[in-house]
Amino acid sequence: MTRDRWQRGLAFEPLAFLTALVMACSASVAAQEAAEVPPSAVKALAPGQKIAGYDALRFEQPYIIQRLTERAYFLAVETNNLTFYVGDEGVLVFDPLSGRRAAIALQAIATVTDLPVTALMYSHSHLDHIGEASVFVAAAKKNGVNLRIIASQATLAEIERHGKPVPRPTEIVATPEGEFTFEELTVKVFTNGTRHSVDASTAYLLGEGVVHAPDFFVPGHLPFENFDFSLDIKGFEDDLALLKRLDWQFFNDGHGNIGSRQDALFQQEYIDQLRAATLAGLQALPFADFIDPTRHPDLYSLDWVAKLAEAAKKEMDPKFTRLEEFDYLFKNHVMFMIVNISYHQSGMVVPQAE
Ligand SMILES: [Zn+2]
Repeated sequence: MTRDRWQRGLAFEPLAFLTALVMACSASVAAQEAAEVPPSAVKALAPGQKIAGYDALRFEQPYIIQRLTERAYFLAVETNNLTFYVGDEGVLVFDPLSGRRAAIALQAIATVTDLPVTALMYSHSHLDHIGEASVFVAAAKKNGVNLRIIASQATLAEIERHGKPVPRPTEIVATPEGEFTFEELTVKVFTNGTRHSVDASTAYLLGEGVVHAPDFFVPGHLPFENFDFSLDIKGFEDDLALLKRLDWQFFNDGHGNIGSRQDALFQQEYIDQLRAATLAGLQALPFADFIDPTRHPDLYSLDWVAKLAEAAKKEMDPKFTRLEEFDYLFKNHVMFMIVNISYHQSGMVVPQAE
């Protein structure tokens, strides 16, 4: 077959076809094998790769370190993760963690570099991510380092509103969008204020292709209840749209395995299907049919949501329904979607009984 004919697919030659098929299959097997790799503090991950056996390994080992790029690393200590970046003079850490994990994190970082931690960023004010910042302050003091602590204006406000027992930031990044530099690295920080908490941020390490955005979504899984306590679905979707705009390959949500752009797409597909299935359910099962003046309104409203979720589940792709958490979370997500549609899109979702 001439090159021209091959390109245009005008001829069918069984041997050439078989060879191409075998090559395509072995390439796909290789790609599958490479999708998960044992953790390595030395070998950087390829985009899309995850840590093999992560869910068990993070409880079996004191910590897991995975090199992401030349200078950026993912570090898991049991249930929580941080990101760190090794500069020429010091280390920048995104989230000090909590619950006796900070000391372990410091030990883990010391296995990769002799440089001291010179800067800390708070992703948001929730104490499971920043509760042990004082451990980093003490370590810096011991090393003769004046530790920079960077946080958004919104995180400072939350720390002060609750009187949180953590060191105050020494540098403030503007909201909803700001940035800071660490040696040669620029970090952009986005704090939309409507996803997860009023101060949940997305930190983007420019040029590294790394995003640190705790409590957004665990890669490969459904979002937690109420989309991990987002103010509304739009808040969650706005941050997904932000991820789409940024040029990154590695995502750290602070709890799960390393995420990819495909994982962000998975979240948007889930929301699109959830929205379509909920809208179809609203058509088929009008709220008015469930109103029962002899019962408390919360009870017949919840019955309605349960029935609607049953119907909506049938519209969802098996890649979502087969997840072990699906049945635990789906009714909550349908309710959240109904609330979002009725609050923000249509005043006719909850009409009066006929
Ligand atoms: Zn949080």
